[in-house]
Amino acid sequence: MRLLPVLIAIPFASLGCSVSAEPSAAPKSVLLVSIDTLRSDRMGALGNTRGLTPNLDAFAAESTVFTQAWSQANTTSMSHAALFTSRYPSELGVPGTTFTLGAGAPTLAEVLGLYGYEPVAFTAGAHLEPGWGLERGFTKFAATEPLGSFWHTLPAAEAWLDARTATTPFFLFVHGYDAHAPYLDPAPYGTAWTAAPGTDAVRQLVGTELVFGQTLFHEESMMSALAGLDRPRPWDAEGQAAVAAMAAAGSHGATPFGDTDAAYVRDVYDGGVAYADALFGWFMVGLRARGRLDDTIVVVLGDHGEALGEQGRFGHGDSLADEELHVPLYIRVPGAAPRRVDAPVALLDVMPTLLDLTGAEAPAGIHGRSLRPWIEGAEGPAHDVIFAESNLRAVSARGAAGRLSFSGLGAGSPFLQGLMATSLPTDAAWSIDTTVADPTAREDLRRALLAWRATIRLPGAAVAPVDPALREEMRKHGYFDR
Ligand SMILES: [Zn+2]
Repeated sequence: MRLLPVLIAIPFASLGCSVSAEPSAAPKSVLLVSIDTLRSDRMGALGNTRGLTPNLDAFAAESTVFTQAWSQANTTSMSHAALFTSRYPSELGVPGTTFTLGAGAPTLAEVLGLYGYEPVAFTAGAHLEPGWGLERGFTKFAATEPLGSFWHTLPAAEAWLDARTATTPFFLFVHGYDAHAPYLDPAPYGTAWTAAPGTDAVRQLVGTELVFGQTLFHEESMMSALAGLDRPRPWDAEGQAAVAAMAAAGSHGATPFGDTDAAYVRDVYDGGVAYADALFGWFMVGLRARGRLDDTIVVVLGDHGEALGEQGRFGHGDSLADEELHVPLYIRVPGAAPRRVDAPVALLDVMPTLLDLTGAEAPAGIHGRSLRPWIEGAEGPAHDVIFAESNLRAVSARGAAGRLSFSGLGAGSPFLQGLMATSLPTDAAWSIDTTVADPTAREDLRRALLAWRATIRLPGAAVAPVDPALREEMRKHGYFDR
């Protein structure tokens, strides 16, 4: 009789029939894969036809695919802080280039650690280097040189898994900047999709320089000049006029940046996505061969997107438009049937989802909701309005009607509530950017932003000042204070 369960199990295994309606209740390990700067529209599973992501597409075919997943910030540090805590950036630190996750909000690694998980991370450095607060809760937080690749982090993670003798579940976080500028991925990936001619100089310039319309500027010089004019945001009307004058004068390193250059940059970005996909595929082959996928929940996501010429912009961190915030989110739970979910969800939801799936209790004060019902085939939660913050004192609300962004005061400003209390401000000092033409729908989003602002719990004095060495390191890579 004792053999019976085994005899029953063998035919299932031999048929590859691992999919059932209900995931197992046994504790599972967790793998969280963050592909930096990954736009949703480059994913084959989300409609792209260029063939950039065969490995991610195969993974998506075994996962719950959230087609409308949105990041809470357009920069790496702020987005990961929100991802790790299920709170908004303004609750965790001071939005900006030197954003640091302060003490207070429990992190996913801390909570899983309390439940017996071993939390470790292999990151590609820069804003995911120890010192920005994102390492909190990990017992091991290994970072490569700034702006490193999955080429660095995934083999290290695999070696760690192979050397591990503990039988407790793990929480493994891996990250790579392969789709992040400067787009310098190796052949054949880096230029495999380029139709227009271009040079390494153009590839390197995007990331440390600033493209504005048909001109490329030396970013630090240009942004400093705007700050000197008290117009730190180049995207509002007065800022644009100042930038146009700089372009005409050829000052601040202004050089022409034409349509051919723009097309080339888009294509080398695609090469970076393909390179990330190839390395991810290699990692998954290794996990599958080791039997790890049978007892590991795997989440794959982008931390934010990338502007690639929309409204004349390249890069990320400046705008809260769709191209900077719409990201892939795939969750693979062993035993769960694959499905697609079109309901709007947020990266804030990842933490409560993983805590729910692992039997851990979510801490108080989080804003996300568990997506587990969706994964298990039922109707799950959705967000009527999704909010986001930028490092340039901007906030946005995104609903079914479209997006409303307000630029000029961040969510942490005590003046925001009063300024928007009765209507959208029309003074030239504030910038409203919206895709919503209908005044009633726009008014709904204004009210939603106000209601959201009232839920923000500001961190007070809990944020430690950033280490000057880390700050200087990021300046070398184009992250200037604005
Ligand atoms: Zn990032």
